[in-house]
Order: sequence, then structure tokens, then C-alpha cells
Amino acid sequence: AYVIAEPCIGQKDGSCVEVCPVDCIQPLKEDADWASVEQLYIDPTECIDCNACTESCPVNAPFPDDQLPERWSAFAQLNADFFAGR
Ligand code: SF4
Repeated sequence: AYVIAEPCIGQKDGSCVEVCPVDCIQPLKEDADWASVEQLYIDPTECIDCNACTESCPVNAPFPDDQLPERWSAFAQLNADFFAGR
């Protein structure tokens, strides 16, 4: 799955949300509060590894989980945790 890392914090450009073919980037659903989250997150159980989000992102925030820079390794869990219990 893809993971959105630190460059998204404070950006939340949202172009990835537009291009994701499976709508797995949140906050997106009507019950999500866009303003309350620091960054966007990818649901690892839904992502189909299409790379569209990486191509659309102006700040290079999404990475395939196996190419996530070491300094941002914690973001894999942060993305998954956002969807836990939803
Ligand atoms: Fe969505 Fe594709 Fe990015 Fe996965 S890689 S989050 S499916 S746009």
C-alpha cells in the first residue's frame, strides 16, 4: 500500500483525493472532518498501488510502503491507525 508522509502536514493539497480510483484517501467520506486532521491518510486495506496519488501530489508526500524514507517510517502506522475502528 501507499503511505502519505510528513510533506502532507500543513499542505493537504487534496489532489490525490481527486485522482485515487478507489477513494481510499481520507478525510473524504462525508463524516470526516477535513479541518480536524493534520494531513491526509491512505487506507492500506483499500489501496491498489496505482501510483496516481504520487503523480498528482505537489509536495511528494505519498510513497509505496517499501520505498518510504527511513526518517518517515512511522507514517505507515499513522496512516493505518487513522482507519482503525472506522
Ligand atoms: Fe489511491 Fe492509487 Fe494512491 Fe493507492 S496508490 S492511495 S489506490 S491513488
